[in-house]
Amino acid sequence: MAMERTLVLFKPDAVQRGLLGRILTRFEDKGLKVIGLKMRQFERGLLEQHYAVHRERPFYPNLVAYMGSGPVVALALEGKGAIEVVRKLMGKTNSAQAEPGTIRGDFGMSFSNNLVHGSDSPEAAARELALFFPAPGELVTWTPANLGWVYSVKEELS
Ligand code: UDP
Ligand code: MG
Repeated sequence: MAMERTLVLFKPDAVQRGLLGRILTRFEDKGLKVIGLKMRQFERGLLEQHYAVHRERPFYPNLVAYMGSGPVVALALEGKGAIEVVRKLMGKTNSAQAEPGTIRGDFGMSFSNNLVHGSDSPEAAARELALFFPAPGELVTWTPANLGWVYSVKEELS
């Protein structure tokens, strides 16, 4: 499995409900490396671009309005197979059906207000990271002190 980067958004409901710390802890506890973090009330145009694949879907107008209704935290994470790892930690889109132990399964009840976004493919991750972290230097290259314990240096990082 390759080292990957992926975009996570803490949606407005996560911010308003005071869940930022607990959700970030899920990703840190798993061993994913934080390489970018910012809070903004993102403008409509950017959110429309971010969700462009859903443009024809009936929920699209509400989705864009909800995502622009308050502050959002954008998080860039790095790790082996990070895209799929993050999607698994998030759980199913409909929070009411998401498995206990997942972020949506533990903290949510809603299909739309489902707390987090995570990129769903390498192509989406590259596109979304460039949208939310466009400036050079916004993503930080660093080596966690515990890297050699999170992974087997010999087997996985060679
Ligand atoms: N969504 C919704 N109603 C639906 C499907 C999706 O409100 O029937 C919202 C929900 O917030 C979801 C987002 O649109 O997270 C994007 O949908 P997608 O199918 O990409 O789900 P995700 O990748 O976030 O699990
Ligand atoms: Mg999606």
